[in-house]
This record gives sequence, structure tokens and C-alpha cells, in this order.
Amino acid sequence: TYALGPKITNWDQERKVWLDQNQQFPSHVNGKPRILLVTGSPPGPCDNAIGDHYLLKGTKNKIDYCRLHGIEILYNMAHLDKELAGYWAKLPLIRRLLLSHPEVEWIWWMDSDALFTDMVFEIPLPKYDGGLWICLDEWAPMGPKGKIRDEAGKILTANLKGRPAFEADDQSALIYLLISKKDQWMNKVFVENSYYLHGYWAGLVDRYEEMIEKYHPGLGDERWPFITHFVGCKPCGSYGDYPVERCLSSMERAFNFADNQVLELYGFRHRGLLSPKIKRIRNETATPLEFVDQFDIRRPVHGSS
Ligand code: UDP
Ligand code: MN
Repeated sequence: TYALGPKITNWDQERKVWLDQNQQFPSHVNGKPRILLVTGSPPGPCDNAIGDHYLLKGTKNKIDYCRLHGIEILYNMAHLDKELAGYWAKLPLIRRLLLSHPEVEWIWWMDSDALFTDMVFEIPLPKYDGGLWICLDEWAPMGPKGKIRDEAGKILTANLKGRPAFEADDQSALIYLLISKKDQWMNKVFVENSYYLHGYWAGLVDRYEEMIEKYHPGLGDERWPFITHFVGCKPCGSYGDYPVERCLSSMERAFNFADNQVLELYGFRHRGLLSPKIKRIRNETATPLEFVDQFDIRRPVHGSS
């Protein structure tokens, strides 16, 4: 079957040696495990210019979150493996990055159509200790474009309730792997549902005003979703499951909801969740250092609930 690359068997130990020999690339910085957030978009322009605009906003949003939390960010636009084009492209990319950045403790993939909407929340990494990335190899075989992917799609549709008939996609393949080889994989995979790692946008974007009224950032769950993911919206190309106007205005709201949390650090806020215009919310002062701590969301006091 198809393989992502040569089989690697002794990674943990070899990595440990490498880290010992390369202390200028520590795996922990300021006591925190090093995280690389990986995202990307197709190599070419979107079908529609507005799609590129929202890709840019999605990128700004991720840069903001990562800057505030000391996370490194990588934006990929290349297709590293011709066979694994499309939604499968993240597998060879993630593998390549893991091998090229042994200093990184965690690689965190995030779709381009997902926005951070809680700028304070941090993921509870210790919960996920003991993960094994080697299993990428088990996930890939249904990916190669053409006959293999088409045939695999039939297996997935036959085995996953309610799946429409189409070629194999990475997410269905993962679910299928988990249920068909339950004993082998189930206890090595953590499916997070205690906060909104992937909050589905349709139930969230109309409630932001209510959240602002009742709650505060740092909660990460339905009260203040960590991430709002625009599943089924395709502003960049092909066609999605929702009218593009509804997708775009919802993305605009999510972006501004998040951007307010950033702008508030500097004394500004959007006039409304659909407005690119901002207003000042604090007066200038001649003694700024007296107040600087109070507005810095990187300080732990803001994260408590
Ligand atoms: N993606 C990419 N290059 C591509 C196609 C997709 O980097 O050529 C990334 C992009 O971040 C996207 C994610 O892969 O959000 C998932 O793609 P998919 O088409 O499955 O779903 P989408 O999120 O676009 O609905
Ligand atoms: Mn997506």
C-alpha cells in the first residue's frame, strides 16, 4: 500500500539525542512546550477575490492568537505530494514538518476556514500527552488520488452511516480507522469535546452579542467558543453548502468578535460586529505603564473563569 515515507521506528529516542546535542533549539520555551501552528491554502488564487480577503483575515486572526500565546506559525501553499492533493494534503505536510522540526513538541493543524474566537483560552496540552504521530502511516493509504481514493470512498460510504457517496476524504478515513481497528487505535486517539476546538459556526455566530453580555473570553466552550469553524462554507472556491453571503457575513462577525479582544488591548473596539470601523474605548494617559498590566490578556488573571 501507499506509504508517506520510509518507516521510522526509533523516533523518540533519536529525537532525545538530537535535543541534547542542539540546545540552541529547546523543545520548551519559558516553561511551555514549543507549539507550531500549521495552516495553509491552495497554491493559486481563489475563484473570487473576496475569498482571498477572508483567507487574509483568517491568517491575521491566527497570527494574533499565536503572538499572544508564544506559538510559532507556518503557512503552507505548496502541494508536497501530488498523490495526496486536496484534503489529504495535510498528512504529508505534517509528517514533513515533524521530521524537519524535532524541536517542536506539538504540531497543531488548523483549517484556513477556522477562526480563533477566544483569544485568552489555551488548550490543555497535558491532557494529550502520550500521542503517537507514527500512526499517520496508518491513516494515509486511502489517500492517493484516482482509483484508490475512489474505491476507498465506496468502503467508507458503506460503513459510515449517512455518508454520501464520494471519494475518500481524510476525516471519514480517520473515523473508519478508529471503528474498524478499535482495539489498536481508540485508546491512542483523543477526541476533544470538553471545549470548542471546532465550534460549528452556524450555531454560534448569531449568539456573539449574547456572549459578550453574559460572559468573557477564557472559557472556550459554548459560552465563549475557542474556535469557530466555517464548515460547509467555501468562499475561496468550488461550491459550499450555504449561500456565500451568509458565510461571508458570518465570517465577518466571527473575525470582528475576535479582533475586538485584540484591539481592546490597545484601547479600541469595532463599532459593531459587522463593521470594519473602530472606536476608541480608553483615553490616552501620560503614565501608560501604570495601566499596562490591566489590559494585557497574556496575564493569567484574565483566563480564570
Ligand atoms: N488546504 C490547503 N491547500 C489546499 C486545500 C486545502 O492548505 O490545496 C487546507 C485549508 O487550510 C483548508 C483545509 O486544508 O481549510 C481543509 O480543506 P478542505 O477542502 O477539506 O475543507 P475546507 O476547510 O476548505 O472546507
Ligand atoms: Mn474547514
